[in-house]
Amino acid sequence: MKRYAVILEDTAVPVPKIFCVGRNYAKHAKEMGADLPREPMLFLKPHTALAIEPDAVEVPAAFGELHHEIELAVVLCKGGRNLSVDSAARTIGGYGVALDLTLRGVQAAAKKTGAPWTLAKGFDESAPVGRFARAKNWAWSKRSGDAETELHLTVNGETKQRGPLGEMIFSPATLIAYASQYFTLEPGDLFLTGTPEGVGPLEDGDEVNAAISGLPELSFRVRRR
Ligand code: MG
Repeated sequence: MKRYAVILEDTAVPVPKIFCVGRNYAKHAKEMGADLPREPMLFLKPHTALAIEPDAVEVPAAFGELHHEIELAVVLCKGGRNLSVDSAARTIGGYGVALDLTLRGVQAAAKKTGAPWTLAKGFDESAPVGRFARAKNWAWSKRSGDAETELHLTVNGETKQRGPLGEMIFSPATLIAYASQYFTLEPGDLFLTGTPEGVGPLEDGDEVNAAISGLPELSFRVRRR
């Protein structure tokens, strides 16, 4: 059976669940025609959505339009419930690069009818992730506001998304603390922390490269059949 474990430097960490947040960058909320959230807008992907350091990501063509969303991923080294933001910060074990792949047409139809985003966001291979760096080796949170730490996604060598991590609205620790009011958090849980503007379609054969300053890069080819 396939093991859904991310790699934190040289250690495999099984993932119980994947939290994602919508509209965590103002310019992306605007490009989607959405208002800014007053509190985090969380949703879940199942752990079976993971594609761990994939060479290729395959999404059936019949699912319709597929969009890239580059995101900073956080892996927890500790769990907990009802965490303060300070305690939540201490649950962060590492950081990596991820995509929150989205079936944009399916999502648009769901928004119209008020249906959940389960199909649009939770399908197999909708969460490609790269290798994770230990938090002590990449202490971005201590440098928040550092405009030089940015997310950068290219498709076939062309820049599609590029923006500073410092424009994130809710910090990773804030998202973890918020989720812990409703969910029991476990070691290995992932948080995908939202995408900057510039989301767009992926086609069969596209080469995607996703990078965040100082973290291992994630590169894969898209297959649509
Ligand atoms: Mg997203």
